[in-house]
Amino acid sequence: MHRKKIVLIVLWIAAGWMAPAAHAHEFSGARAMDYARKAVAFGPRPPGSAALRNLRAYIVAQLKPCGCEVTQDSFTGHTPAGPLAMVNVIARFPGRSGRALVLTGHYDTKKMAGGRFVGADDGGSSTAFLLEMAATLQGMPHDDDIDLVWFDGEEAFGQWSETDSLYGSRHLAGRWAADGTLSRIKALINVDMIGGKDLHVMNEENSSLALRKLIWSTAERIGYGKYFDNAPGSTDDDHMPFVKLGVNAVDLIDFDTAKKTYWHTPEDTLDKLATHSFEVLGAVLTEVLKQL
Ligand SMILES: [Zn+2]
Repeated sequence: MHRKKIVLIVLWIAAGWMAPAAHAHEFSGARAMDYARKAVAFGPRPPGSAALRNLRAYIVAQLKPCGCEVTQDSFTGHTPAGPLAMVNVIARFPGRSGRALVLTGHYDTKKMAGGRFVGADDGGSSTAFLLEMAATLQGMPHDDDIDLVWFDGEEAFGQWSETDSLYGSRHLAGRWAADGTLSRIKALINVDMIGGKDLHVMNEENSSLALRKLIWSTAERIGYGKYFDNAPGSTDDDHMPFVKLGVNAVDLIDFDTAKKTYWHTPEDTLDKLATHSFEVLGAVLTEVLKQL
């Protein structure tokens, strides 16, 4: 056999090995923006609404070709407005190690008087980020399970309180504590309101210090350090039910409401979003997942 022919065969075999990686695509801010556009097009999406049910069906349909196991985690949220049927959507990309990495965000929008609140950033950006993440995970090699979770009922119906907020994450943290899943979690990363222009991710001090160090240093290394604040802040969000149960969890949120004057107003519309903000979070978290 010719030496040249052997080289060609070796190259052909190598190309075959590398084929799955070649099919995977990198996280795309533009595609995430498209998903945000789709989410917003469903209109206001408070828990229990037809619009949220339709968005959920859309999310589940998008997950079909991802090679992941999709679970709809149904429960009743006991809200000041009465009991409401809520559903978290979980997409599991199974690994072999027995451990799990979890990326979360909420897909509901706040129920507002007047019914014009479409939550492009608040609810839309986390929904879209996780959908694009699901698309990129298809071909990414990983040892641990990777779970993506779309939480229902993040928003309060009245005044934000321990019992009126975070319905989906409180439910899932409790369920996963009971069935042993929590003890398998190496890291849980929640994203919220990360699609706005002029991105500044809060250094949320209730969050795991180890995870913040890893995320902040990764961002620095790939040239995105300036989008991650050094001065600490704090906020209650979907990571907290897990933090309270001892999970290594972090919240990534741009909650600069002085800048985001559109927060919880009908002005939270698509024009407030920036493709580049999705791009930054996508690139950083893709790198972080490889290091966990
Ligand atoms: Zn909100």
